[in-house]
Amino acid sequence: MNTQQKRYFLAEDDIPRQWYNIQADMVNKPLPPLNPATKEPLRPEDLFPIFAEELARQELNQTDAWIDIPDEVRDMYKYYRSTPLVRAYGLEKALGTPAHIYFKNESVSPVGSHKLNSALAQAYYNKKQGVTNITTETGAGQWGAALSYAAKVFGLECAVYQVKISYNQKPYRRSIMQTFGASVEASPSMSTRAGKDILTRDPANQGSLGTAISEAIELAVSTPNCKYTLGSVLSHVSLHQTVIGLEAEKQMAMAGEYPDVIIACFGGGSNFGGIAFPFMRHTILEGRATQYIAAEPASCPKLTRGQFQYDFGDEAGYTPLLPMYTLGHNFMPASIHAGGLRYHGAGTIVSQLLKDGLMKAVDIQQIESFDAGVLFARAEGIIPAPESCHAIAATIREANRCRETGEERVILFNLSGHGLIDMTAYDQYFAHSLQNYEVTDEQVAANLAKLEKVI
Ligand SMILES: *Cc1c(COP(=O)(O)O)cnc(C)c1O
Repeated sequence: MNTQQKRYFLAEDDIPRQWYNIQADMVNKPLPPLNPATKEPLRPEDLFPIFAEELARQELNQTDAWIDIPDEVRDMYKYYRSTPLVRAYGLEKALGTPAHIYFKNESVSPVGSHKLNSALAQAYYNKKQGVTNITTETGAGQWGAALSYAAKVFGLECAVYQVKISYNQKPYRRSIMQTFGASVEASPSMSTRAGKDILTRDPANQGSLGTAISEAIELAVSTPNCKYTLGSVLSHVSLHQTVIGLEAEKQMAMAGEYPDVIIACFGGGSNFGGIAFPFMRHTILEGRATQYIAAEPASCPKLTRGQFQYDFGDEAGYTPLLPMYTLGHNFMPASIHAGGLRYHGAGTIVSQLLKDGLMKAVDIQQIESFDAGVLFARAEGIIPAPESCHAIAATIREANRCRETGEERVILFNLSGHGLIDMTAYDQYFAHSLQNYEVTDEQVAANLAKLEKVI
């Protein structure tokens, strides 16, 4: 048996020239986001005060299956793309599985995760429109790092609200953002009304993505020539991430295989959509039988335990109402290390796909995720981000099932990022001081019951 890693790359000319918009091909389109004041379906213009206009149009585009990648963005993709598709012989051997395991390695981007694929696009469209300042939130700091770099590339000022727990757990991500020239503040902060409200109620509040989003939006709408950007959840973010799956499709063909199962970890859905949607196109249009599995943390289980309903994307309720699987925008996730997965809701596209049975979700406990990450690191030589460990854990579950049944299934997972800035988490794992956190159906129901039913 070959135990060498085998890697597949694309020639520069084969890097995608268009992103894939799955909304155009979906039989049941996602329900429209609603304007919270009027409860009317959102029009792109409603989003213009917050987002760059082109991004607002992409967000609501349900007709064009292919959207051109601007040359300026594609030229930046060439700095690190194509990313390798890797046959994980080492992991297969460690598991003794007949499954063929492949992973798409997005950790090779300059900032160490897939987030740069959308950050470059978002910074570009803002610059093109004449915007000078952009704001955002970040959890573990991956999105903040990506946007800080992208802002520098296109000559924009960038201000980031980082969730307080991560700001303290992962100080080097803050240093990275500052190195790229961004200003970074721990959220909740006293600099916005949303932050002040929370700190007044709960001075020890450790923050959440939902709260940080509220702060960043507030800054954007109160600062001249400033727009807000988001690193996940929204449809235009998944759109930009499809460059992952479009490349993987060509690379799998080079390997002479086609995936039976596609797996990604799930925070708001952008790396999942990025790798899955280009393949799902063949499921929708040609009936190709591929399984799609989103791996979420058991401590923040919106897909496996949440309810499908209209909810806000942020804690304070500044965003449009989104039709999604949610734990409630008031949900405070436990302080797990996979900061990028600590979000209460799922994107509208994924929510519709899950409702329609086109994909499924599994929940993974924190300790199982690190068991998987360490096994993977020892087999493949790459230390995965705590978020990516969830995808690896789900992959190992599938591969072990194949070992029992003897099936030679082809599994493709997305390695969304590396964990080299997350070694504190690994230290705690080795010291046996990591905890599992469970959220029960009763807790979710009680939390959702507190929210006003909007629809
Ligand atoms: C942000 C992040 C995620 C989760 O976000 P999605 O939008 O669900 O992809 C996963 N992995 C890494 C490394 C991240 O930085």
